[in-house]
Amino acid sequence: VPSLEVSGLAYAYPDGTQALFGVNAVVGRGERVALLGPNGAGKTTLVLHLNGILGGGLGTVRVGGLAVDARDKKALREIRRRVGVVFQDPDDQLFMPTVREDVAFGPANLGLRGEELDRRVAAALERVGMGHVADRPPQHLSFGQRRRVAVATVLAMEPEILVLDEPSSNLDPASRRELADVLRSLDVTVLMVTHDIPYAAELCPRSLILSGGVIAADGPTLDLLADE
Ligand code: ADP
Ligand code: ADP
Repeated sequence: VPSLEVSGLAYAYPDGTQALFGVNAVVGRGERVALLGPNGAGKTTLVLHLNGILGGGLGTVRVGGLAVDARDKKALREIRRRVGVVFQDPDDQLFMPTVREDVAFGPANLGLRGEELDRRVAAALERVGMGHVADRPPQHLSFGQRRRVAVATVLAMEPEILVLDEPSSNLDPASRRELADVLRSLDVTVLMVTHDIPYAAELCPRSLILSGGVIAADGPTLDLLADE
């Protein structure tokens, strides 16, 4: 079963703006894919359909085979676990007194407790190289460290697909490299929305180019960039 299957997805906002015109894409398990395209292409609208924040248009989205249906509360809860979104601003995601509590928040909400929860949190922090800051307040960390902790809060949910919005934005060169190393080391499926072409080329073997609400190109990142 692919991590993500988008089929014939079309969507107009309530004001009538048609943002997506029949998007088709399949992303296999463990792939890292960049979602590229100019402002207004529909990238945000597409991402908001992956976890059911937007719905009610035409077409289907499946995550690990499960259909995203904004009206099905129970299925949507599972979809929100499967689709882990890392926002552009980590401070939208970190709100607890310590890093450990921020990373524990999601899995505790799923019902994990005790040692099982501790293991889940430790593993997620380990995967982003932030185990040593577990007991610190997130706001004492650098921006790059906060972004990696934000990634850990999502990994702790053991998602089917990790979606990142502009992961390299506002990072200094060292933090950029550290995050790239983390993302490359994960075995989870990654969809990265970015305008940072070098970052996409470095991290994502495949890219989707969204333009005017349709997939204008889908293929090896280096081939697509050579065609530009
Ligand atoms: P991108 O993320 O690629 O910049 P968006 O998904 O934000 O593109 O926007 C796609 C289209 O939908 C654009 O024409 C944009 O102006 C429009 N749009 C986005 N959000 C809304 C909204 N809340 N209401 C109406 N139109 C919107
Ligand atoms: P991004 O670069 O992340 O796509 P945008 O600048 O396109 O962000 O949009 C920022 C916010 O404004 C989003 O929440 C989007 O839904 C909203 N938005 C974009 N275009 C419109 C529009 N035409 N009407 C109403 N809201 C819009």
